[in-house]
Amino acid sequence: MIKAKKKFGQNFLIDESVKSKIIQAMPNDSLPVVEIGPGLGDLTQKLLQSGKLVSAFEIDLELCVVLKRKFESEIASKQLTLVCSDVLEQWRGDSLLDQEYHLVANLPYYVATNIILKALSDPKCRSILVMVQKEVAKKFASQAGDKNFSGLAILANSIANVEVLFDVGSEAFDPPPKVTSAVLRMVKTREFVQNQRDGIFLDQDEFEEFKRFLKEAFKAPRKTLTKNLQNSYEKSLVLKFLDELDLSFSVRPHQLSIDLYHLLFDKLK
Ligand code: SAM
Repeated sequence: MIKAKKKFGQNFLIDESVKSKIIQAMPNDSLPVVEIGPGLGDLTQKLLQSGKLVSAFEIDLELCVVLKRKFESEIASKQLTLVCSDVLEQWRGDSLLDQEYHLVANLPYYVATNIILKALSDPKCRSILVMVQKEVAKKFASQAGDKNFSGLAILANSIANVEVLFDVGSEAFDPPPKVTSAVLRMVKTREFVQNQRDGIFLDQDEFEEFKRFLKEAFKAPRKTLTKNLQNSYEKSLVLKFLDELDLSFSVRPHQLSIDLYHLLFDKLK
């Protein structure tokens, strides 16, 4: 009997109907699937049964022993590649795989936001379908004007169609987490960085600068955007550009649309 390890964010999904709903929500094409944290392999099994080629990354070596035994024939036939390691260490370059893929996972909550940001930036990752803490899902899917609109939502919605598909109560897991969960889907429509058309930024440096800009913009979410940005940009320039964009000097960070954030960044960079 395997005991769930808190330090690895292990809350195993036991509700069959939730597992099926996740599989049904996957894109209907032949791209391989990356699963982060296969755990005891329940979702992995469903992915394999649906005929997908799967690469699974599991940090817990004890679970890896179980998974190797459970999926001996799928590993031998190469339908499943099991990487026993911290997935963040495997993301050393831009991409996790050397071919395009869809990410499907019941993510460990302690590192979920970090993993989603990595996947959003990974040009080989075409879509993300993940179980996360409901608050995190709402943050990524929030819209301008919402109280919890954030830099994360601006990043995600700049390149993907983002939606919260359904909530999942804690009773669907063993052990049950303290929070409600939700399944979040992001289907990419373009990339952050691409040398040809369609990319939003010309290079990685510009993209990193945009991330820093958003961090500053939302530093104190209840304060004005001017106040937040004047720590890193000259106040007179911030005021000038807000004026050029017909924005009030007292506008709050959550009130600007995604397009306005891109326009303001273009002026300030
Ligand atoms: N997929 C299983 C399920 O749905 O029941 C387990 C999900 S559990 C919430 C998260 C899984 O991610 C665990 O198996 C945990 O060991 C694994 N994990 C945690 N941190 C990880 C990391 N940095 N890299 C790879 N796997 C990780």
